[in-house]
Amino acid sequence: MFGLDRAALREQFEKMGEAGFRADQVMLWIYRRGVSDFELMSNIGKALRARLAAHFVIRPPELVTEQVSVDGTRKWVLKLEQAEGKPVTMIETVYIPEANRGTLCISSQAGCAMDCSFCSTAQGGFSRNMSTAEIVAQVWFAGKTLGGDFQNERVISNVVFMGMGEPLANYNNVLPAIRILLDDFGFGLSKRRVTVSTSGLVPFIDRLGGDVDTALAISLHAANDKLRDQLVPINKKYPIAELMEACKRYLAGKDRKSHIIYEYVMLDGVNDQPEHARELAKLLNGQGQAAKVNLIPFNPFPEARYKRSTPEAITRFSEILRAKGLLTMTRRTRGDDIDAACGQLVGKVQSKQKKRLGDIPVRVQ
Ligand code: SAH
Repeated sequence: MFGLDRAALREQFEKMGEAGFRADQVMLWIYRRGVSDFELMSNIGKALRARLAAHFVIRPPELVTEQVSVDGTRKWVLKLEQAEGKPVTMIETVYIPEANRGTLCISSQAGCAMDCSFCSTAQGGFSRNMSTAEIVAQVWFAGKTLGGDFQNERVISNVVFMGMGEPLANYNNVLPAIRILLDDFGFGLSKRRVTVSTSGLVPFIDRLGGDVDTALAISLHAANDKLRDQLVPINKKYPIAELMEACKRYLAGKDRKSHIIYEYVMLDGVNDQPEHARELAKLLNGQGQAAKVNLIPFNPFPEARYKRSTPEAITRFSEILRAKGLLTMTRRTRGDDIDAACGQLVGKVQSKQKKRLGDIPVRVQ
């Protein structure tokens, strides 16, 4: 069920000879009430409930581990359904509670093929795309685990595609998932509270802009091609100038209040010097208030070849950007004690799983 957005579910219902609005009712039960048993859907007739139970399943992913950080951040390792003869595949989902919002950071691929040099997910390589159902199920699972009643308590107010994987490299499965997140009959999240983060797949930034209204974050990390080629290799295919053009086209199609978040990981001595800040300010200059910079202190992982910038370097960097009129925030590190911070997903789980499962070949990517 989690794999079908409203248009697709209505189509299925109509094929079964049922009225389309019945699909809407079922979606409300699933996404607004957290119900996974057709028998509990009291406004659906008995006969249809039986047909639904025969046709569909509403099945959350299997929980492997839950870790809770001292700061309240939670990380779940979830096992995806395993096709016969295929390796065990696990992904991670992170919940970050804050005073005025709760953000769920979801994965869109098992592993990642983008190969960014500062990201631990990249080190494990790419395993496979997640289906729409697997992407959506993370949100449903988290909602249930965090407190059941989806209707009244907004424990999850924001969803960010900043977990494992490159969402725009799995566009066909990610798009219906976004639709379910935004749909009033789905999770009903507001369009500014669903953020797609991308390393910069230009053609899909254009498609996203045309297909759906959501917030966009760009993993920029460097303002010149030489450095960005090293940090974010997809830059060799879609260099900065092309990426910036795509960002402008994206904004041109949106209302005036829209903005783009530019993520910038702070790597000691690599991209954190005053000249880098000035270069970044110059690059984003033309976008005015539509550009927001999010500085992310680097989160280390085993085998990382970088160090986190010093607090002084981060402050100096953000002051230069602010002086140039750019809205700049430094992302607070959350959940790093349980390896749930940006760029830390999966590394340690992999080795733990291998140990626990003995000689079963486990690929957690
Ligand atoms: N593939 C998507 C989304 C996943 S990563 C993307 O590239 O945007 C979410 C953010 O965390 C990205 O900006 C990513 O560059 C950043 N990140 C990756 N590794 C990191 C690390 N070790 N420390 C801090 N941020 C990191």
